[in-house]
Amino acid sequence: MPRAVLDAADGSSYHFAMPGLFDGTPLERPVTCERCDRSLDACECPRDRGGAVLLPKSQPVRISREKRGKGKMVTVISGLDPVASNLDALLSQLKSACAAGGTIQNGKIEIQGDHRERAMKFFQKLGYPAKLAGG
Ligand SMILES: [Zn+2]
Repeated sequence: MPRAVLDAADGSSYHFAMPGLFDGTPLERPVTCERCDRSLDACECPRDRGGAVLLPKSQPVRISREKRGKGKMVTVISGLDPVASNLDALLSQLKSACAAGGTIQNGKIEIQGDHRERAMKFFQKLGYPAKLAGG
């Protein structure tokens, strides 16, 4: 008789008394992604911390600029999900697109200098609904 389930911690054989216990539960069905239909192991859809699919188009990106220190401007990009979006990869792509330095602060991408237009086009090209915000 195949042992379908681990014995309970107290060593009881409780499961063998109920052979149909796991019939039809999600444990027996192949689990596929609701969006791409691939098995969850093969799925590469971006997901948030809770495991829900979260595509770029569902992440409203806001781009603003802030003054730092002695009149220096930084372009601040907020609204990216820190799990579904790879902030490190986006930062390095955006740095080369703007030919500027940058960093990640509290889940926001910051690029040195005023690069709002360029940043907006960058994110729109990737499918993010990006808008300029504030001054
Ligand atoms: Zn998927």
